[in-house]
Amino acid sequence: RPRVLSGIQPTAESFHLGNYLGAVRNWVALQDTHDAFYCVVDLHAITSGHDPALLRRRTRASAAQLLAAGLDPERCTLFVQSQVPEHAQLGWVMGCITGFGEASRMTQFKDKSQKQGADRSSVGLFTYPILQAADILLYQADAVPVGEDQRQHLELTRDLAQRFNTTFGATFTMPAPYIIKETAKITDLQEPTAKMSKSASTASGLIELLEDPAKAAKKIKSAVTDTGREIIFDQAAKPGVSNLLTIYSALTGRSIDDLVAAYDGKGYGDLKKDLAEVVVEFMRPIQQRTNTYLEDPAQLDKLLAIGAEKARTVAGATLKTVYDRIGFLAPG
Ligand code: ATP
Ligand code: MG
Repeated sequence: RPRVLSGIQPTAESFHLGNYLGAVRNWVALQDTHDAFYCVVDLHAITSGHDPALLRRRTRASAAQLLAAGLDPERCTLFVQSQVPEHAQLGWVMGCITGFGEASRMTQFKDKSQKQGADRSSVGLFTYPILQAADILLYQADAVPVGEDQRQHLELTRDLAQRFNTTFGATFTMPAPYIIKETAKITDLQEPTAKMSKSASTASGLIELLEDPAKAAKKIKSAVTDTGREIIFDQAAKPGVSNLLTIYSALTGRSIDDLVAAYDGKGYGDLKKDLAEVVVEFMRPIQQRTNTYLEDPAQLDKLLAIGAEKARTVAGATLKTVYDRIGFLAPG
């Protein structure tokens, strides 16, 4: 079986629709065809300042949402990144073969650091794509299911894998991005050309899986739509309406063409009203299941510890090879 690896940051209590449609939904599907490794990447979540108690909560909430969305610990390996120390260890090695200029070209760093003020950005935020490369390469992943915003980081991962393999001998599998075009960039409801984001979107631009469904419905109904009144799919001219159609199609399985035909002659209000209902119907069972997992944190922690142990057998083997190839002495 080919292998997949992906991760999600516990930077908020709740995932948003973009996380679900762009990534998590595909993770669930890939469990059946791939040897799948999925992690809550808490090391990445401390790159922009954080509160320890909140991080602990969000890490559990993230794991619970992944289970609620359909990850099955019997069919995949679900773990928390910090419980597998090989990530940080390989991260250091990969950092040593990354050029400073190369790392400086990452657009996500530029965006995020610009928002924080360059002087206040941490070195961790700067090197995060390198740690991400380590996350992927440790598992010899063939494919990495992510949203469009991660494409550049994956390119870096491939460059680093290639460089290591050429310099020290074939070690890493070359990972390919697994990006489903239709749902690769769900956009902010208030700013429909920007991606929906846990850290960058305003509350009204974001549909959070765990939020009050009535609030989510309201947000859909007040989403920014475009001039004109026709309901057509045109991401350049009508990014707002196109985003709503994308979400509608993804959650119901109806094609965009089918939806466009169904709303012919109707108004934006009709589309929003129906979509709000679809979103609410989708959220309710996820919320119920998430809460059930969160009611028993000890059980959740146990399940994650088992996942970490499984992950470590693979990660440990890769790191051992890497340490040997680069000339570190084997421990006694
Ligand atoms: P942050 O703003 O803290 O970076 P995020 O919303 O980008 O949070 P991540 O945890 O960084 O979420 O990403 C988890 C996964 O969700 C990644 O695979 C990412 O590509 C995907 N993803 C994030 N936002 C979107 C989006 N708007 N549309 C589609 N996929 C997305
Ligand atoms: Mg992100």
